[in-house]
Amino acid sequence: LVSRQKKSEDTVIQVKGVEFGGKAPILIAGPCSVESYEQVKEVAENHVKRGLRVLRGGAYKPRTSPYDFQGLGVEGLEILKRIGDEYNLVTISEIVSPNDIELATQYIDVIQIGARNMQNFELLKAAGRVNHPILLKRGLSATIEEFIYAAEYILSEGNTQVMLCERGIRTYEKATRNTLDISAVPLLKQETHLPVFVDVTHSTGRRDLLLPTAKAGFAVGADGVMIEVHPDPDVALSDAKQQVTIPQFNEIVDELLKSGLYK
Ligand code: PEP
Ligand code: MN
Repeated sequence: LVSRQKKSEDTVIQVKGVEFGGKAPILIAGPCSVESYEQVKEVAENHVKRGLRVLRGGAYKPRTSPYDFQGLGVEGLEILKRIGDEYNLVTISEIVSPNDIELATQYIDVIQIGARNMQNFELLKAAGRVNHPILLKRGLSATIEEFIYAAEYILSEGNTQVMLCERGIRTYEKATRNTLDISAVPLLKQETHLPVFVDVTHSTGRRDLLLPTAKAGFAVGADGVMIEVHPDPDVALSDAKQQVTIPQFNEIVDELLKSGLYK
């Protein structure tokens, strides 16, 4: 169902006037974790100033250590709902349990399935049973074929509103957090009709590589790029090292605009 051979035209997903997979490239930005109303509001206000429409923020955080911040849960979803309504922004947040998929449709505009859950098949099936956009991230060590089959799980249950996100894979290289598989973008665009995004924050784990990898993503045909931005990254409850400040983020947006790769 995800194959180009089955459907030759690009899938375009419309949410609150934003077209995912449409002509205009998209920036998905926001904090790693939703920490408070005030924190998300600062980012949202900047979005409005910069004409950005898509806000991310994690409410359920699948952390490597059980002792790390696990997210605000439903309270985080409530914050996103409120801010999405107040600032007319499209909200994206990760859901980790099949039991929460239905509930999440009431709070957020796009449900993210994270890298660690790309092959959580019950979660994929639950995501396939709702009529709501899904952003599916590539697994930590998933092949392109496994990634495509994961998307197929969602479509096979009836939900056609699926987008893919390359977020780096595990290799022996330690200079970056993961290895951004840039060729995955044109490959997924060729093999499937789904919108394809590049997460430059989790793939590189390095602030100094966000701009060049974002440019690369757009240059190879990504429908959008995801970047984490936090009002005060030093005190962030997750991914403190790689989130950028709002001024740093704005500089990246300016440079992307100057490059002509993002409009
Ligand atoms: C995220 O986007 O918040 C996240 C945890 O990313 P990933 O699943 O790609 O690690
Ligand atoms: Mn993060």
